Amino acid sequence: MNLLFDKWLPVEAPEGEVTTIAPVDLPGSPFLRVAHARADYSALATELLIDIFQTLCAPASRLQCSEYVSQKKQPTPDQFEGLRAAFELVGDGPRFMQVAPFETKSASPASALFFEAPGANTVKLNKDLFVSRDAVSSLCLQCTPVALYQVQSHARMGGQGYCVGPRALSALAAIIEGATLWETVCLNLLPVGWFDSQTGLEGENAPSILDSFPWTNPKVSLREKVEKPLGEFGRFGVLWWTPLALHLHVTDNRDGKVCSGCGEIHPEHIESLSWKATASKLAGAIKHPRTGWRPDANKGVGRAIEVPNDGFSFEHWQALTIGARLEDSLPAWGQLNWHQAEKVRLRAFGFAMNQNSPVAWFDEVTPILVPHDPANRDALKTSAGELVTAAQKAVAALKASLFRDPKKGIDNPELPLVTSPTQAGQMLWDELGRAITTILRSITDTPITIDAATDFRRSACASALKIFDRVTVDYGDNAQVSRGVLSRRVNLSKKLNPKK
Ligand SMILES: [Zn+2]
Repeated sequence: MNLLFDKWLPVEAPEGEVTTIAPVDLPGSPFLRVAHARADYSALATELLIDIFQTLCAPASRLQCSEYVSQKKQPTPDQFEGLRAAFELVGDGPRFMQVAPFETKSASPASALFFEAPGANTVKLNKDLFVSRDAVSSLCLQCTPVALYQVQSHARMGGQGYCVGPRALSALAAIIEGATLWETVCLNLLPVGWFDSQTGLEGENAPSILDSFPWTNPKVSLREKVEKPLGEFGRFGVLWWTPLALHLHVTDNRDGKVCSGCGEIHPEHIESLSWKATASKLAGAIKHPRTGWRPDANKGVGRAIEVPNDGFSFEHWQALTIGARLEDSLPAWGQLNWHQAEKVRLRAFGFAMNQNSPVAWFDEVTPILVPHDPANRDALKTSAGELVTAAQKAVAALKASLFRDPKKGIDNPELPLVTSPTQAGQMLWDELGRAITTILRSITDTPITIDAATDFRRSACASALKIFDRVTVDYGDNAQVSRGVLSRRVNLSKKLNPKK
């Protein structure tokens, strides 16, 4: 199966139906988004497409980026042919994100390809939150490319010799979302010069394009214990770094097993693989183009933004929206001008981790604010700091008010009062996030006034109370509980109402 030319990618058509296409069919197509059964696979397949087209037809300049968006320019069939060899999933030659066959003492189960499949320690602690390890027994060939991309490109630290690549442990990935999938891909393409400045390679010195892929690069054996400079992998090596040595065992699906990724039954599948960690890693500090970087005046390059456990904080907000462009810290929206930024949205996603175990899939879409000029940026930073802090306070207070009171005795303090205080907090954050964007869009070169900030805090309080009422509406029948609920409401209001 060839990942460029064969149909494996589930996408949503404008009429809403889901159909399977090959990446070669994507340029200029009307499909809206990747529509995989798993939310994380949809996001990751979008990233994989961006990497494919970045490597296939990297624009020479920003102008060319917009020519792709407006479809004045399209990748040619020759360009696709040039990459064919790197995108074979199975077969005897080089295989996508895999090493040549090798012997291991025992084969690993297909669950090893599931990012959230528990490692030995989590099994012992019984913390396998997402997918039970027994439930993952078969992966179809349509899900496998994304599963491979997930374990390789987002490889975590963990176990002996596992070396992460250019993304930090749980780096938040962030992309620009346009109106269609093709537009999304184009909007995230960076000019070649960005990659050259990362690798120190200039046009003529650049290795062959197939060198970008460790599995088609003849100079590289990923089972060596060495540090590799990015230059050995060509200008796009940063996108295709594969720190884990693995080789899939493809078999006929004789028992008609259901794929653990998509729930469908396919004629061929993966039940096991040869797997071992490699000790080779990329030398030097390399930024991945879709990882947001927190501006950090002291340390120069800053730090990769990690996936937030609990929605965006001001730091994420600043680095992902208004900070990025000026600190030259990427990602691609650093290339957007103010006008373009108004029409697109920023999507940030990744696994929130706890001690190296994924605990939640984070996926949030937010508007992009590109400062008009330095004065505007400073005003935005000050204002956003104030508004986001107020919003976070309201969200935290609302969530706290929805947990049972340990002092009251009648409640079990471990249990929430309503099914999901976190969800209630998310509802409030969504509402306040929209309000913040509206306010920030109106900021020129002076920060938000004290009166306007007070108004915002007042409306945040009102929204928190409204959501509190909505989620506790069922407690009216029991007099004792309803008295308790009322007193919480009063406390919430006291906590949030700005003093005159
Ligand atoms: Zn599948």
